[in-house]
Amino acid sequence: MFLADSGSVAVEVALKMALQYWQARGERRAHFLTLRHGYYGDTFGAMSVCDPHNAMHSLYQGYLPEHLFADAPRSRFDGEWYESDIQTLRDMLETHRHDIAAVILEPVVQGAGGMRIYHPTYLKRVRELCDNHGILLIADEIATGFGRTGTLFACEHADIAPDILCLGKALTGGYLTRSATLTTRNVADTISNGEAGCFMHGPTFMANPLACAAANASLELLADGEWQPQVMAIERQLRAELLPLLDAALVEDVRVLGAIGVLETTRPVNVARVQRFFCRARCMDPAFW
Ligand SMILES: *Cc1c(COP(=O)(O)O)cnc(C)c1O
Repeated sequence: MFLADSGSVAVEVALKMALQYWQARGERRAHFLTLRHGYYGDTFGAMSVCDPHNAMHSLYQGYLPEHLFADAPRSRFDGEWYESDIQTLRDMLETHRHDIAAVILEPVVQGAGGMRIYHPTYLKRVRELCDNHGILLIADEIATGFGRTGTLFACEHADIAPDILCLGKALTGGYLTRSATLTTRNVADTISNGEAGCFMHGPTFMANPLACAAANASLELLADGEWQPQVMAIERQLRAELLPLLDAALVEDVRVLGAIGVLETTRPVNVARVQRFFCRARCMDPAFW
C-alpha cells in the first residue's frame, strides 16, 4: 500500500507501479488502455487517460502521452448485457498486447466523465482479457470505494479483484486529504526485485499522521456503522423521488445505484443559475431550515 495526498496522485502512483512492474521484468511498455468517458484526476499522468474530449486534451497536445481509448460500455447496469460492448477493448488489447502496461478503468460507475453506470459483466470480461494477456488491471475506486455503490467496492459487483487499486474520497470523508494505492504481493515483489530496488515515488507528507488519523476514524465509522442499510435507504429514496422525473420533458435519463442518483438532462444545465439557486435560494434562506 502506498499513501499519497490526493486521488490524482494515487492514479499517478498506480500508473508508475505498472510501468515499473514491466521494467523490472525486462520489458519496456509505455502504453495504457482505457475507456472513453473516463475521469482519473487532473495531474498529467491521470489527465492523459481521461476522456480526450472532456479533459480538453487539445489544450495540452504534444505534452500529454497518447494512450489507447476503447469505446465505453453501453449495456446498462441492470439491463441486458450485450457482448458487442467488449469488442473494441478486446481488439485493441490483442493488437497492442506487447505494448500495453495496464488497463485502467473506473469499475461500474464512470463518474465525472458522465456518471455512466455500466453492466458488471463488462468488468468480468476485462479481467478475463487482462489475465489471458498477462496485462495488469488498475481499478480507480476513488469515487466508488467504501460503499458508494451498495457494495464496499464496485469491483464486487463483478466479483473481480484488480492488480492495482486506487482509493481516495470516502477514505477520509473529506476531513483531510489522503489517498492510497494498493497492489498485490506479486506486483510489489516484482518491483522490489527490479533494478530500482523499490517503488520510485516519494511525497514529502505521504503518510501524514493527521490525515491517517482522519482516514482511520472514517474507516472505523464504516466498520462499526450501518453503512449498508443506510446506502440501501438512500438508494430507495433516490429511486422513489428521481425515477418519476423520467416523464419530464427536460429529463433524458435517470440512473440510480447505491448512494448515486443521476439526472441526465436533454440540454446542458445552466450551472451558474443552478448554483445560485441552491446557495442563495435554498441553503442561505433561514426559512428553508
Ligand atoms: C475525484 C476522482 C479522482 C481524483 O481525485 P482528487 O483527489 O480530486 O485528485 C480520480 N479518479 C476518480 C474516479 C475520481 O472520482
